[in-house]
Amino acid sequence: MTKPKVATVWLEACAGCHMSFLDIDERIVDLLDKVDIVYSPVVDPKEIPQVDVGVIEGALGNEEELHLAKVMRENCKILIAWGDCAVFGGINCMRNFMSVDEVLKEGYVNTPSTVNPKGVIPGQDLPALLPKAIPVDYAVKVDVHVPGCPPDADTILYVFSEILEGRMPKVPVDMMRYD
Ligand code: SF4
Repeated sequence: MTKPKVATVWLEACAGCHMSFLDIDERIVDLLDKVDIVYSPVVDPKEIPQVDVGVIEGALGNEEELHLAKVMRENCKILIAWGDCAVFGGINCMRNFMSVDEVLKEGYVNTPSTVNPKGVIPGQDLPALLPKAIPVDYAVKVDVHVPGCPPDADTILYVFSEILEGRMPKVPVDMMRYD
């Protein structure tokens, strides 16, 4: 049987969800016998290929992230939102109480650690911010929601196990942990 192909992306996020994935430790060896991770921060292709399972870590906060979410939806048979940022927007939504201009000024001028005496705010070199940071399913259909900050390693492994058994995963309540 052909191994299912998996793509994972890290959008507006801290990478903690991918770190939690690596926390499955030696069990990753068994998992890699059963799936091929063909696109991910831990491998190096440049284009998101057609895959069986796609995983999005992170909210959508700019045009590039929105574009990548749409590409993932088009290219992935099953799309998973992985972690609170992807499922709910997470900490990224703290900026939703400000305008885009205020967010940029806060980030590039006002923060105490910033040295920017001319108050230069990057323009066209950066993807434009969306008016608000949003969860993935505000933009594209998501098949599986895996909350947690981050979801723990056992939960991530459970989701893959269910898919490999041919079931659409539903994370049990007792696996939704926030510690
Ligand atoms: S859900 Fe938590 S661990 Fe995952 S990317 Fe967001 S802040 Fe980081």
